[in-house]
Amino acid sequence: MTSTAVPDVAGPVGDAGGRPPLRLSFSRVDSYRSCPLRFRFAYVDRLPTVPSPHLSWGSSIHTALEAWWDCKLPEPPPVEVLLDTLYARWDDEGFAGMPRDEKIRWYRHAQDVLRRHHARHAAAYVPAVATEQWFEFDVGDDVTVVGSIDHVARTGNGGFGIVDWKTNRRAKTRQQVAGSLQLAIYTLAAAHLWGREPDWVALDFVVPGVRVTVDRADIDTDHALAEIHAVAALVRAEAFDPAPSALCGWCDWRAVCPAFEGDGPDVAGTAVVELQRLRRRQERDRQRIAELERVVRDRLGVEAVLEVG
Ligand code: SF4
Repeated sequence: MTSTAVPDVAGPVGDAGGRPPLRLSFSRVDSYRSCPLRFRFAYVDRLPTVPSPHLSWGSSIHTALEAWWDCKLPEPPPVEVLLDTLYARWDDEGFAGMPRDEKIRWYRHAQDVLRRHHARHAAAYVPAVATEQWFEFDVGDDVTVVGSIDHVARTGNGGFGIVDWKTNRRAKTRQQVAGSLQLAIYTLAAAHLWGREPDWVALDFVVPGVRVTVDRADIDTDHALAEIHAVAALVRAEAFDPAPSALCGWCDWRAVCPAFEGDGPDVAGTAVVELQRLRRRQERDRQRIAELERVVRDRLGVEAVLEVG
């Protein structure tokens, strides 16, 4: 699951009388990378989060998948295991106050996603070695990495693979999956838990119904460790500046964020987000202009390009 539930927070930062150990999960490192101030609000200040339909929906899907993959049956468990678990353990928290029709749409969407997951995986079903497998291991420098692995899958050769279920609307590319910090952390965790690394790791994008699998050899655990230590050093240095981005729209603490102080068009955070959007557009335009110039040059010659200019 994307949002790894971790029992305790990053630990007090900058305690007098010695450096406290720091506990980092993928979610925490990812949170820091997206916005250091959001990390502080969540894990140092421990400000309360706001329940959301997306989080509750994703949590309900994960619970159903866990129940299905955890069935220790020789035959593929029926789709009812998924659907009954969804019904029995539906997380309603994020839907409080939502009109009933809208909530039913979310529920039906979850049913569809689970039915499709069953159709994709039932034929080759093998019970999981473990689901929601908790881990924690030291990586040196008083840093402990914690988290849980959604699905440890048995492979034909006596090894195992690691799957993380994603409820994003779109799948990522193979290159993006190979570069996943989360999967690199799980690879390290597997070596710690079982004394061997997985044969492969995968992100299963359950909404579009796509599993993207990469070999262990494609995962860069050294880079992941370097990233974890870099974030740990910044957390210890209390480097918690805001980093406004398009994600601010989903931030629970925008109302108390200094980047969004004030009103109107002069709010710094709004200006940064707008600037980022315009720069991305400018870059897309620049690339398209270069493509079009190449076409005109190849067909009509350099002079024609200059004339257009
Ligand atoms: S509103 Fe944006 S900049 Fe401020 S804490 Fe949240 S994510 Fe960071």
